[in-house]
Order: sequence, then structure tokens, then C-alpha cells
Amino acid sequence: MVAHDAAVSGVPRPHLRAFAERFRGRLFEPGDAGYDEARTIWNGVIDRRPGLIARCAHPGDVQAAVRFALEHDLRTSVRSGGHGVAGLSLCDDGLVIDLSAMRSVRIDGDAGEAHVEAGVTLGELDRAAQALGLAVPAGIVTHTGVAGLTLGGGIGWLTRKYGLTVDNLLEAEVVTAGGELVRASEDENPDLLWGLRGGGGNFGVVTSFRFRAHPIGPTVVAGPILFPLERTAEVMRAYHDWAAEAPDELTTILNVRRAAASWVPDHLQSVPVCIVIPCWCGPIEEGLAVVDPIKRLGPILDLCEPRPWLEHQAMFDGSVVPGWHYYWKSVELDAMSPEAVDVVVDRTETITSPRSYTIAFQLGGAMARVDEVDTAYGARASGFDVNLNAVWLPEEAADTATHVGWVRSLFDALEPMARGVYVNFLGDEGQDRVRSAYGAETYDRLAELKARVDPTNLFRSNQNIPPAS
Ligand SMILES: Cc1cc2nc3c(=O)[nH]c(=O)nc-3n(C[C@H](O)[C@H](O)[C@H](O)COP(=O)(O)OP(=O)(O)OC[C@H]3O[C@@H](n4cnc5c(N)ncnc54)[C@H](O)[C@@H]3O)c2cc1C
Repeated sequence: MVAHDAAVSGVPRPHLRAFAERFRGRLFEPGDAGYDEARTIWNGVIDRRPGLIARCAHPGDVQAAVRFALEHDLRTSVRSGGHGVAGLSLCDDGLVIDLSAMRSVRIDGDAGEAHVEAGVTLGELDRAAQALGLAVPAGIVTHTGVAGLTLGGGIGWLTRKYGLTVDNLLEAEVVTAGGELVRASEDENPDLLWGLRGGGGNFGVVTSFRFRAHPIGPTVVAGPILFPLERTAEVMRAYHDWAAEAPDELTTILNVRRAAASWVPDHLQSVPVCIVIPCWCGPIEEGLAVVDPIKRLGPILDLCEPRPWLEHQAMFDGSVVPGWHYYWKSVELDAMSPEAVDVVVDRTETITSPRSYTIAFQLGGAMARVDEVDTAYGARASGFDVNLNAVWLPEEAADTATHVGWVRSLFDALEPMARGVYVNFLGDEGQDRVRSAYGAETYDRLAELKARVDPTNLFRSNQNIPPAS
């Protein structure tokens, strides 16, 4: 029998009651008021029915939940922001350790640091940090959870200037697979800190993080510049050298799709487009000069201008609404080569949903200068992270296979050019894909760490790295 695979329904009621008495947060069992809301996560495709959701109020609750799982050998998962696309934060019949109510953020302006509990979302962290003119490098959608994003790496608009989220992770408080509360920092449990910097949720339940924060904004030069799809190859030829030679202050994202957003004027809605989105986080005048060559290519819409950092951070929120249906695949590429661009344009012509899209994050800069062995993050040398995202509405569920098929066909065409994958964009795709996110050396080192800190693989409802034998 697999360890830690029992259902909560097998736990004797007096034991459940004893657990409830020492638990300060909220517990949800099937049939309880709030249970369905508590098992709802970002991807509306996911419909898992946990046996018990333990919404923790403080680290002591997390310890109690881990010990309860050990005592009854329960199947266990860990949920924070609930944005993992594969829905591994929920487990059928088992125990969900839910951090989503642990929401405190404290910014220490003098030290330039952020103290963040595991249930905090990116938007909450951004708002608290910006109040003091600071930001922690993280992702590009405000409702994403800080915890899962950090543990896998964390790429976004500040990656090239200040590195990945994990490059700014100074310390974490962690409940181990034995139920102990420990600190992971350069001085205490440094090997655990190394694993948390990219190794995902394999090594314990993180209850809080301490991050380095940097001066940003309040204004950046940022926003979408739209070109018709048929001009993509030409635009990408100009983009290629421009982006490659740009200073670290510039990060760009490319988005290829049918235009659809509140900021798209009526006459351009649903038009197939290639969107170049620069974000410049340095002096404004310099930024305007840097983005000028792309603006001069003659776009059909140009919204790249000085704007508040917080506003820019929310620009994609309306494209990835919680509860819609999603299927993702992802590849890391050295470059947006003409071959890769041709494939994306070709498949966009036959895109099956007006909400689906390809998005490419430009990498490099500060993140690429960190030594591969310093953190568990596996893909520092990639030029671009490219996500192929099918998006459709719950009422279109009958068309699921069509939308999933569109992503798979695009993935099959791009995969021969790929150099791996970013673990946070993986679906439930099996061990080889997890290994390819890290590369053999880092993966083996992670498996050895796992064997030391979670030898029975309690934490395995994740992008799992089984313990080395
Ligand atoms: C709309 C959207 C936008 C995104 N944008 C970006 C982006 O710009 N940049 C980027 O890098 N990624 C991005 N991602 C990917 C994101 O980093 C992952 O989906 C991440 O797992 C989300 O974390 P979460 O806490 O919200 O998710 P959850 O589903 O709660 O957690 C995902 C997994 O992380 C682990 N985990 C979560 N919390 C803890 C914890 N406290 N302790 C231990 N393990 C834990 C668990 O294994 C869990 O299964 C995006 C995802 C979505 C859905």
C-alpha cells in the first residue's frame, strides 16, 4: 500500500473531533456550509472532493494538520492561492491543508524587506509594497498566490532587473513532514532554503516568507502595442535584436491571440494580433526612448506609455478569470526563432476559442546571472518561457476536447525546439516532464533532499520529486 493514501472518511469520529478541538481555523467536510466554496480553485475544470479542508489560522494549525495526516496516514495536499493549473492543491477524499486565510503582509521599508504569509496574493503584496515605493519581483496576474509561485521560481515583469522571486527569497518558515516548525535561511537549514528556491511544494508546508523588496515606480513605461497577426514575422525580426540588446530595466512579453480585453476598442475586438508588451522599470524618459523603435513599426494600437506600476500589474487579470476553464502546456525556448514564430502564427489562424492565446515571457538579465547551482530553479539559460493556454467558458464544457486539442497540436509542433519547461506552468504531465524542468543534476540533488526531509513522500500532491532511494 502507498503510504499516506488513506481517506478522511476512515478516521474515527472521536479522533476528528479531537483534531477540531485543537484547530483554531475552520474545517470543512462534505455537506458543510462553505465546503463547495472552499474546494473551488482558479481552474474551473478541477472538481475534486476532499474529505476535509483544514483552513489554517496560524502556523500551529498547520502543524496540527500535518500531525493529523501522519497519525491517520492521510492523502494530503497543500493549497495557498489555488492557481496551480493542474489543481494539485486539492486531493479527492484526503486532507487539504489550506493556507488561504493566512494573509498578513508587513513591509519593512528601512530594511527593504517584505514579510508575507502563505495565503497572500500577488495583488495584496504589490499594494502593500507600493505604499512604500517598493515591489517584490513576482508574477503578472494579481490574484495568483505568492506561495506556489515562489516555490516554483516566480517570473514576471521585474525578472530581468531583479531576478526571479526565489532570487529574492531570504527566509521561509516551514512545517516539516514531521510536523516541526523550522526556519530556512542562509544560516539555518540552508539546504532546505536551496530546495524551496524552485523545488515546489515537495519539502514541507511554508507558512511565511521573507523577501527582498526593491524601489519601483510608482510609474513605469508599459503597455500593449498591437500588430495584425499577418505582420508577426516582420515585427519579430525587429523585436529580436531590440529585445536582446535592451538593458535589464526592460522586460517584454509577447501575446499572440484574437484581441479581447476591456482596453481593446470595439473595431479591434476579435482581430488576430501579435502584441508586444514592454515594461520598463527605470527612468521614464530613458524608457520612452528605449521602446520607441517598436512604436515606430506602425502598430494598429499603441497603449505603451507611462502608467502606474500597480495598474500594469493587473493588465492580464481580465483574461484569466477565476472559474473559467483552462488547459495549459508550456515550453522553454532559446529564442523566438523564425520557425517558432511561424508555428505560433499558423496555429493562431485556427485558434478554437476567442479566449485562448500564446504568451511568451522574455527571460535573461539578472535571473540568468545567478549560478545554476545556487538555487533549485532549473531553467536559467532559457531565452523565453512560452505558454500555450486554452481558455473556454464553463458553459462551453462540451467543446473541451477541441480546445485541449488546439494546445496539444501547438505543443507538438514547438516541442522539438524546446529546452525544457518551467515547473510552475506544468499540468499533471508525469515524471519525465518534472525531471525536464530541473535537469538531471538538480533533480537528483532535489531527490536526495526529499529523502532527508520527507522520506515517506507525504507531500506528493504536487510536481512530485520522489525521495531518492
Ligand atoms: C492566472 C495565472 C497567472 C500566472 N502567472 C504567473 C507568472 O506571471 N509567473 C509565474 O512564475 N507563474 C505564474 N503562474 C503560475 C503560478 O506560479 C502557479 O500556478 C503557482 O503554483 C500558483 O501558486 P498558488 O499558491 O496560487 O497555487 P496553489 O494551487 O495553491 O498551489 C500550487 C502548488 O504549490 C504548492 N504549494 C502551495 N502553497 C504551498 C505552501 N504554503 N507550502 C508548500 N507548498 C505549497 C503545492 O504543491 C500546490 O499544489 C500563473 C498561474 C495562473 C493560474
